[in-house]
Amino acid sequence: MKKHNFYAGPSILPQFTIEETIKAIENFSNTGLSVLEISHRSKEFVAVMEESQQLFKELLDIPEGYSVLFLQGGASTQFAMIPFNLLNKKAAYLDTGAWSSKAIKEAKALGDVDVVASSKDKGYNYIPKNYVIPTDADYFHITTNNTIAGTEIKTDIDSPIPLVADMSSDIFSRPVDVSKYAMIYGGAQKNLGPAGATFVVIKDDILGKVDRHIPTMLNYQTHIDKGSMFNTPPVLAVFSALQTLKWLKENGGVKGAQKRNIEKANLLYDEIDRNKLFSAVVPNIEDRSLMNITFVMNDDYKSHEKEFLDFVDERGIMGIKGHRSVGGFRASTYNALPLESVAVLVQAMKDFENKIS
Ligand SMILES: *Cc1c(COP(=O)(O)O)cnc(C)c1O
Repeated sequence: MKKHNFYAGPSILPQFTIEETIKAIENFSNTGLSVLEISHRSKEFVAVMEESQQLFKELLDIPEGYSVLFLQGGASTQFAMIPFNLLNKKAAYLDTGAWSSKAIKEAKALGDVDVVASSKDKGYNYIPKNYVIPTDADYFHITTNNTIAGTEIKTDIDSPIPLVADMSSDIFSRPVDVSKYAMIYGGAQKNLGPAGATFVVIKDDILGKVDRHIPTMLNYQTHIDKGSMFNTPPVLAVFSALQTLKWLKENGGVKGAQKRNIEKANLLYDEIDRNKLFSAVVPNIEDRSLMNITFVMNDDYKSHEKEFLDFVDERGIMGIKGHRSVGGFRASTYNALPLESVAVLVQAMKDFENKIS
C-alpha cells in the first residue's frame, strides 16, 4: 500500500533524495567507496559541501556577506550558541511556542531576556501582534513556524535590531528576504534532509561583538573561517540535503514550493473548516501554518479520536497523531509531500464523517 507520510520530523523527503542517497551509499561520486566511509577532506566530499552552500545561497537568494554552515547538535544547540555569540547584555524574544520557550531558557542563562510578547495564554494558538521590539537589545529572536502548535509567521518582519529566526520547519517553503535577517537556522530534518545536520545562515558582520570567551566549537567564527569544515561535518546528512536542494531547484525553487504548499494547506484547512467532526487549532486564518496543520475532534465526537487514527492507518496515512501537548491531530505538509497525499487524507475525513454520523 502506498504510504502518505505526515510525520512532523524527521519527515518526508523527495524520492529523488532517497534514491540518490542509496546510490551514494553504494558508490559515492564514482569513487568506488561509500559516502559513509570516505574522508570529508576528499575532493569529492569537499565538492558536495561547496555545492550545498552555493545552492543554499542560490535558492534562498542570499545576499553577499552571509555564510552558510552545516553544523551538528540540532536546532536545540543553536538555542545556546546564539546567545553565546550574540548576547552582550540583553536579547529580545517572541514567545510563540514550545521551541521559542526553550530558546528563551538558554538565553536567560547568559543575559537579560525581554520577552516582548507571548501567546502562551491561549496555548500558543496565535501569533502575537503589535509588540514593541526594544532598540537597546542585541538581537530579536523569532520562531517563524511553530511546528507543535501549528502557527506561522509567513512574512519577513521588520526589526530595528538584528533579527534571528528559527526556520527549522519552514525553511525553503517560501521565498525569504534574507537581507532582513542577521541569522536563520534550523534542524535539517523537517524540510531539507535527514537528521544530523543543522543549517545556519549568518551575516558575517554581526559576530565579534561579545566579551565572553566562546568555546571553539560553539563559536560561529570557527566554522565560517573553515568553510564549515573545522571538524568532521555530518557527511551523509549534507549529501542528502544537497539532493533535496537539487530537487527543489528542478521544481521551481522556493516560489514553486510556496505555490504547492498553499494549495495543499488550503485543501486541508477547507475540509477541517467544513467537516462537522473537526476544528482547526488555530482560529485566525493568517496565523495558520502552511507546514504543520493542527486540528482536533469537536467535543461531540471526541470519543472517536482513536477510531479515526485506525481508520486513516488503513489507508496508509502515517504520522497524524497530534503532539502530546496539543492533542488531536497534526498533518505536516512539508515541501516533499505531494498534493495527492493531502487529497487522500481529506477523503478519509469525509468518509469518516459519513461513517459515524
Ligand atoms: C524540530 C524543531 C526544533 C528542534 O530541532 P532539533 O534539531 O531536534 O534540536 C527547534 N525548533 C523548531 C521550530 C523545530 O521544529
